[in-house]
Amino acid sequence: QIPTVTQLYASNRLRPTSSPAAPPNPSYNDKISLIRHDITKLRVDSIVNAANESLLGGGGVDGAIHRAAGPELLDECETLGGCDTGDAKITGAYNLPCKAVIHAVGPVYFRTKREGRHTQLLQSCYRKSLQLAVDHGLKSIAFSALSTGVYGYPSGEAAEAACEEVRRFLESGRGDGLEKIVFCNFMEKDERAYEEVIPKYFQPA
Ligand code: ADP
Repeated sequence: QIPTVTQLYASNRLRPTSSPAAPPNPSYNDKISLIRHDITKLRVDSIVNAANESLLGGGGVDGAIHRAAGPELLDECETLGGCDTGDAKITGAYNLPCKAVIHAVGPVYFRTKREGRHTQLLQSCYRKSLQLAVDHGLKSIAFSALSTGVYGYPSGEAAEAACEEVRRFLESGRGDGLEKIVFCNFMEKDERAYEEVIPKYFQPA
């Protein structure tokens, strides 16, 4: 019920671009999905939370995930000792329909852009999250639009960084064990950004 890139091209929700950033690879198009949805409702193996360095809960998607998971999620997060920006840690999912929650700490845009570190830090979140899923034998992973809320990362730049890193991860073979990688957006602006950027990295066959 989560449409793949292959299906989104077939239904014309995604359109080929005249400025591709990578050659087509149809096998990736069956692995990548795009959906506008509440991530706490998705039946996937793992969901990626846009957490903060304390891992002790916050607003936005973090708040929604903690509310839906129940208080035991916070109990487990309290044992983790926080998480650096650009890194990710994994917990159980408790009352959520998924099997695991990956808590990634995206960069605060304006601070890290000044230091020229925003792209590498955001891409590191995607890479570390994908690797955690692989290492734990999780076959599917859904990303929230990390850093694009309170942390102020522009939607288009964030989608570009995410797609580039996911493509690189798959290209390297590290993602061979993954069956489904979902970009799950909440806001229309983020969904639009992905509709523009996905065709650059995941061309139709
Ligand atoms: P950050 O601090 O990393 O910017 P936010 O939680 O403020 O984190 O926003 C991250 C993204 O999560 C935003 O694009 C926001 O629209 C989105 N978001 C908020 N609630 C949900 C939800 N229930 N499901 C999926 N995405 C959500």
